[in-house]
Amino acid sequence: MPITLGNTKAVPGRLSYGTFELFGHPTGGTEQWPVIIAQGNPRGPTFWLTAGIHGNEHSGIQVLHLLLTRELVRNLHGTIICIPALNPAALRTMTREGYYHHGDPNRLFPDGRPPKPVNPDVDPPSVLELAYTRLFDEIRATADYWIDLHNTWTGSVSMIYRDRVYYREDGTAAENKAARLEAEKLDAMLTRMCRAYGHSVIHEMSWEAFFDERLHRSSSAAAVNVARIPSLTMELGTGHVPDPAIVHACVAGIRNVLRWAGMLDGEAEPITGIKVVDPGYPCRRRGTPRLSVPCVVRHLVEPGDRVNKGDPIAELRDIWGRPVGEKVLRSEYEGWIMGLTHGIVRYAGVEVCGMAVRDDLPTVLPFPKGYFKS
Ligand SMILES: [Zn+2]
Repeated sequence: MPITLGNTKAVPGRLSYGTFELFGHPTGGTEQWPVIIAQGNPRGPTFWLTAGIHGNEHSGIQVLHLLLTRELVRNLHGTIICIPALNPAALRTMTREGYYHHGDPNRLFPDGRPPKPVNPDVDPPSVLELAYTRLFDEIRATADYWIDLHNTWTGSVSMIYRDRVYYREDGTAAENKAARLEAEKLDAMLTRMCRAYGHSVIHEMSWEAFFDERLHRSSSAAAVNVARIPSLTMELGTGHVPDPAIVHACVAGIRNVLRWAGMLDGEAEPITGIKVVDPGYPCRRRGTPRLSVPCVVRHLVEPGDRVNKGDPIAELRDIWGRPVGEKVLRSEYEGWIMGLTHGIVRYAGVEVCGMAVRDDLPTVLPFPKGYFKS
């Protein structure tokens, strides 16, 4: 059976173009995803590549346009299925969310829990959530790997968000052990996939923040923890206007992952032109340091800088220019600066930069107690 998605059918040695219907518009017509299927020799893995779930993040689209060439297809073992615009309305309006779903669109993938009984007083899932549920079924049916492309902040470092692997611990001792071993195998595969890509690596937040923030329903987290598909989220620096160096380094990194997956021949390409931060220990995202006073910030660090506990991060002034609060915001942790959060006129409680701190938490761990009951 040839691989198909929507009206697009894989053809050996060809790039095939088409669409996948999402839902109807009340004003007539339908919303569609653009689909590209690149198939080389059909005997080989199926790799999914997606971009544009956040409408103000545009680098991934360019990466896919540069990656998917006739030359790639000539040398490809297997199939690449690609959706370059996961959230068409948000992309058209250059906003993080589209108007047909209020809330982060990258928190709508299945969570693996049993379905809840319908409550007539609660709004049903949005059309976008229903579309992503259908998409997830398609991915689950065909994907051996999945990479979802994003952007973070202006000037931020190109990096991988790597999910922790959760396993069920509500069976017998033998079942729990088998579940842990399977999770460890997937985790080891994610390590190798990150290494093949060759950019900086960040582990997702601690499990409390991960579930509270509904990050377990992001694209890559659902792939890893619901469908057990090796999957990564790539963050490609500045969002609105792609950084050409990061775009090229991402294309090279994805080709390296395709080589690692046995889908392209040849040696890995060097990753050049971007900062790759490797402090020598694993790091995770942490919402720190935060402002204790409303103020105007002058950053004293740059994306990619390594910092130690106590190092200055930003000068804090009032709007008249006088020092306020602790005058200098300092790092609470050892780690590195992923990027500077947008803006310098800030309320108390917000982060002034994205910070990666030493990660001493396990990357393989059981789902929280009662997860599958709620
Ligand atoms: Zn994003």
